[in-house]
Amino acid sequence: MAEVLPTTPVEFLKGVGPKRSDALVSELGIRTCMDLLLHLPFRYEDRSQFHRIADIQSEHTAVQLVGVITGMKEVRGARGTRLVAVFDDGEQHLELQWFRGAQWIARNLPVQKQVVIYGRPTQFKGKWTMAHPEVELAGQFEQRKGNGLHPVYPSTEKLGRQGLNSQGLARLIRNVLPRVVDAVTETLPPAAVHEMKLVSRSTAFRWVHAPATPSEADAAQTRLRFEELFLLQLTLLQHKKTVTQDLPGVRFSEVGHFVNTFYHAHLPFPLTEAQKRVLREIRADMNTGRHMNRLLQGDVGSGKTVVALVSALLAKDNGYQTAIMAPTEILAQQHLEGLRELVAPLDVRVELLTGSVKGSARKELLEALAAGDVDILVGTHAVIEPTVVFAKLGLAVIDEQHRFGVAQRAKLWRKSKIPPHILVMTATPIPRTLAMTAYGDLDVSILDELPPGRKPVRTVHRTDAHRLSVFSFLEAQIAEGRQVYLVYPLIEESATLDHKDLMDGYESVVRRFPPPTYQVAIVHGRMKPEDKAWEMERFAKGQAQILVATTVIEVGVNVPNASVMVIESAERFGLSQLHQLRGRVGRGASQSFCILMSSGDLGNDARRRLDTMCRTNDGFEIAEVDMELRGPGDVLGTQQSGVPDLKVADLVRDRPLLSSARYLAQKVLENDPTLGRPEHQATREALETALKARSNWVRIS
Ligand code: ADP
Ligand code: MG
Repeated sequence: MAEVLPTTPVEFLKGVGPKRSDALVSELGIRTCMDLLLHLPFRYEDRSQFHRIADIQSEHTAVQLVGVITGMKEVRGARGTRLVAVFDDGEQHLELQWFRGAQWIARNLPVQKQVVIYGRPTQFKGKWTMAHPEVELAGQFEQRKGNGLHPVYPSTEKLGRQGLNSQGLARLIRNVLPRVVDAVTETLPPAAVHEMKLVSRSTAFRWVHAPATPSEADAAQTRLRFEELFLLQLTLLQHKKTVTQDLPGVRFSEVGHFVNTFYHAHLPFPLTEAQKRVLREIRADMNTGRHMNRLLQGDVGSGKTVVALVSALLAKDNGYQTAIMAPTEILAQQHLEGLRELVAPLDVRVELLTGSVKGSARKELLEALAAGDVDILVGTHAVIEPTVVFAKLGLAVIDEQHRFGVAQRAKLWRKSKIPPHILVMTATPIPRTLAMTAYGDLDVSILDELPPGRKPVRTVHRTDAHRLSVFSFLEAQIAEGRQVYLVYPLIEESATLDHKDLMDGYESVVRRFPPPTYQVAIVHGRMKPEDKAWEMERFAKGQAQILVATTVIEVGVNVPNASVMVIESAERFGLSQLHQLRGRVGRGASQSFCILMSSGDLGNDARRRLDTMCRTNDGFEIAEVDMELRGPGDVLGTQQSGVPDLKVADLVRDRPLLSSARYLAQKVLENDPTLGRPEHQATREALETALKARSNWVRIS
């Protein structure tokens, strides 16, 4: 038999040939023998037990029998041809059936030979049958190592039609494994293998495809997943170093008049420990002479604004300007007002630039900015337009990062000879492990503590059957002077129906809470901006007790007196949206409530979402559940291309492994930043190979 190497194309393997090899490439990306070894089982079947037809029970999900196929026939029916065969275990008969691929199977089924069959038994008219069983010659079965755990491989329908279903792939891999596995070399640094107590790479391939015990399979899977995550982290950390840490940054060495005066004389409240810690992190970063690229995560109300302000004052103390960007005009306006109030006692100039600042006002503002007379410029995307020129931009703060793409961040860099420090603030917590990968080039600071005196929002779930009592509760809250949000879903695909729900809901609320005693405001996407603003204003001023709205209120409104958030059809909202909406209440001194309304029958995921909301107010915990339910890609949203392409590891399942991988990758790079040492040579080569195969591991900013 010709020599087979890891690099040998699968086409040259016995029983493959050009047609199947093409299918392996297009369906699974398998070209070489090594690719085949990298195609891992997703589970194992326990094949150590044999049954007899006589002992099959209805609770058996799968049984394994030994016997002979005595005959078969193709049966033509309305839905195509199926193959029916009779299996005899020496005592009784069982019917085997194939509904797909009948012809191929008929040609290949071993008749009148001792076989082992495995599959799910089902009862039909009092007799057991088995559809699509696995069939293998008993002799072959016995030759297989262990005979206990059999790997099950992912395959596709197209491959299945060519005899390369899970079993076919298993046969191929079983054939290749012993011939190439000795040529498989170690890729991880010896220290990492030792510290994580990992098996060697070649052992991992032996055990993953042919484990003798479940613990061998586990050890092998762990080793291979770790390897992938470790290489990913090495890539990200190296990338971070080249794009950020090696970039020069303005050095803010001076903590001077503005920071000190504000900090010691004008802080309206003592900072939380979390705020102090994050400010220390930021200050240290900005004093290194290197570029800061930091993500600040903190739930709604955790006090990110004051952190941004102190950072801006630090820039001012060092003679630099700050740009603060918000996703909407309303938010920018709110930032402006809030910041002006905070810096009122200081000689600091804060200005607003949005699309609606036009004509001479705009011209004057831009001139003042270019002259260095404006210290803090608050605005929307307008701030990064080419016509906006700063005298000395030292810091850019981006609020609500989810609406800002990477490209926009890069535009900011170019606003200044030395790129400004960047602080990205988000109120949508991202699970730590995901932030580590998707935002691998950012450092992460976390505000995990709310200012004191906040009462956590109490959240309950009620079905539509409880509407009357919910309305009575609202009535009582309003009688105490509180205000209420009532939010309806608006999903683009069903916008018209949703709009009708909203209007019906609005009418029934007005019937229950009629004027003149009550005023009900309404805001939705089909209104003119000025009408929207007017309605919003009525609610913000306390003239309307109830605001009926679609999710437009998700960002932007701050009405501390509103203490009840009712979310209609809550089962249709995602977790992060529910959490954002709930963040609208709980801003004042009184106890706040969130009432999740839904229909009576809920799917598992919807139930889990609502239960999670009722159980916790912690945005990070919610983000973890969200990631489990939706996967990392959807958690990051479509604007983010940040989810790396992984073949064996899984960002959700392998969270602990990912943290270790990051830690060890950091350790390796600290001692050997270029991976130039002999003991890292194999790792460096593996990294190059991995990068060729996974182009999206590094984002191009
Ligand atoms: P975020 O932007 O993180 O949602 P804000 O910065 O708007 O939060 O702060 C929310 C509210 O909490 C504001 O009214 C702010 O004045 C107040 N706040 C912030 N930090 C503290 C603190 N340490 N103690 C008391 N109140 C605080
Ligand atoms: Mg904010």
